[in-house]
Amino acid sequence: MIEIKGLFKQFNNVQVLKGIDLIVKEGEKVVILGPSGSGKSTLLRCINYLETPTKGEIKINGHSFENGDKKNKEKHIAQLRTEVGMVFQRFNLFHHLNAVDNVMAALVTIKGLSKPEARSIAEANLKKVGMLEKAKNFPSQLSGGQQQRVAIARALAMNPKVMLFDESTSALDPELVGEVLRVIKNLAEEGMTMVMVTHEMKFAKDVADRIVFMDNGIVIEEAPPEIFFNNPTTERANQFLLQESY
Ligand code: ADP
Ligand code: MG
Repeated sequence: MIEIKGLFKQFNNVQVLKGIDLIVKEGEKVVILGPSGSGKSTLLRCINYLETPTKGEIKINGHSFENGDKKNKEKHIAQLRTEVGMVFQRFNLFHHLNAVDNVMAALVTIKGLSKPEARSIAEANLKKVGMLEKAKNFPSQLSGGQQQRVAIARALAMNPKVMLFDESTSALDPELVGEVLRVIKNLAEEGMTMVMVTHEMKFAKDVADRIVFMDNGIVIEEAPPEIFFNNPTTERANQFLLQESY
């Protein structure tokens, strides 16, 4: 589903990603761990083209967006974003729109659906994350956990093939983390292909098919969770696990 080969990303003079190879199969759940600044967010942002790679290839579902002719680049990227949904640390909902309008917006503007069609898809996805009763609420009338569930519904409404989560519970009060993790876990159980960055080690252990450990712009370890957490092979991963409390 995702095929990354020799990915490099440089900002100004700083190499942030230094040759990443990663394959994620359909239905697989990959958790990316690693110290702050190791390039995890940059990697996710490259996957849905919020950042343009300096070098390397990324294929989503067999399509490479590198080699598309320049003229169609915008169209390619818009198409890619409907296939790859992303949920960030901050909920970034449109604060002037209520929950259902937030979920509908891109269905109308990007997918070109009629309002009634968009509304029915939006409501189905709000229901899925347990937020249908709050469909008329504005973001300011929702808790952080509820806003994040709306953000997940908004990504799901586009019917993506892959979902990316970048520390999607890190900005939440501790008592709100569980409701969001539960929604993400349900999605995993339904078979969604997912790549997640998280500091929730228990969750990572529970949901991941594979842990990818990054340090300093490269992948230094890759293993199923039961092996990674019990027997990390690198000193760096070992140190990281000792620091994370779980
Ligand atoms: P992580 O998510 O693992 O904490 P990031 O991918 O956010 O790491 O960042 C990796 C490095 O890239 C950091 O040193 C960060 O300062 C740098 N970086 C990230 N985005 C930019 C940017 N837009 N411009 C310049 N440097 C950036
Ligand atoms: Mg990050």
